[in-house]
Amino acid sequence: MAACNAHYYATRDPLGASGDFTTAPEIHQMFGEMVGACLADCWHSAGAPEDAIYAELGPGRGTLAADALRVIGAGVEVHLVETSPALRELQRARVPGATFHERIEQLPERPLLLVANEFLDALPVRQWVGDEQRLVVLDGDAFAFTAHGLIVEDAPARAAAVTAIAAHLARHGGMALLIDYGHAASAPGDTLQAVKAHRFADPLADPGEQDLTAHVDFEALTDTARQAGAMVTSLATQSEWLSRIGIAQRADVLARANPDHAKAISSALARLTAPDQMGELFKVIALHAPQWPAPAGFE
Ligand code: SAH
Repeated sequence: MAACNAHYYATRDPLGASGDFTTAPEIHQMFGEMVGACLADCWHSAGAPEDAIYAELGPGRGTLAADALRVIGAGVEVHLVETSPALRELQRARVPGATFHERIEQLPERPLLLVANEFLDALPVRQWVGDEQRLVVLDGDAFAFTAHGLIVEDAPARAAAVTAIAAHLARHGGMALLIDYGHAASAPGDTLQAVKAHRFADPLADPGEQDLTAHVDFEALTDTARQAGAMVTSLATQSEWLSRIGIAQRADVLARANPDHAKAISSALARLTAPDQMGELFKVIALHAPQWPAPAGFE
């Protein structure tokens, strides 16, 4: 999964109608603006430490960063963790002056205003049937899975990423918004999925040519982050979180200022928040330093 996704992201822009999948920031600027408002508000409540930086993991086309930074304001340093050369080029164009890193551990030792949207789901998972690890083997000239039965997943790469974020927050201050699809409580199940041209595909077909993801286990994430010294908020659905911090009001302001776009704005709002669209499948959780307040939008 790691090797496939490394090749996949290094060799294309997977986002948008002509790509394989569409993410929340690509639906409408409101999404990134709400993220920016949440980060800026938390920063103010923490006493506006001057050395805080904007950090993003897996920024895609750089759209979320550009929209969030318009709200946060110029003057904040921008640090992007991205391994794909193709996507770095798009991010550089959208966010001039950003500094790039390969790994979370390389972020400067300063307070973070961090966001990661659909980043953790792209990190590799392992699957187990009892004590036996489910592997991918060659069967003739096709790939096949070994063990069959009730599958339990874990994700050491994801745990390592969450540990790195949480340890950084505990030591240097700041907060992190993690947005992804996944489940609130750990449970067995095979969540590995492949998407190609906006349709589900066979995860073993076309290695490195389709998007491979697995659902984020937010209960495991919470435990991992707490163990590494961060405070963790409750989990909100994307709909709850965006609504609590005022996306409907933002949509209203935008629609009044641009009456020609009112229809497009209301359909984007529905895509982001409706329960049968992205509203309930996607979840938001925040980590923060013990000496920082919890960001807005969580109970
Ligand atoms: N956040 C963006 C893009 C999501 S796609 C959006 O919401 O539109 C996943 C992103 O994570 C891509 O930018 C991809 O190149 C990056 N990525 C995937 N695996 C990574 C890894 N191991 N390290 C750093 N970035 C990674």
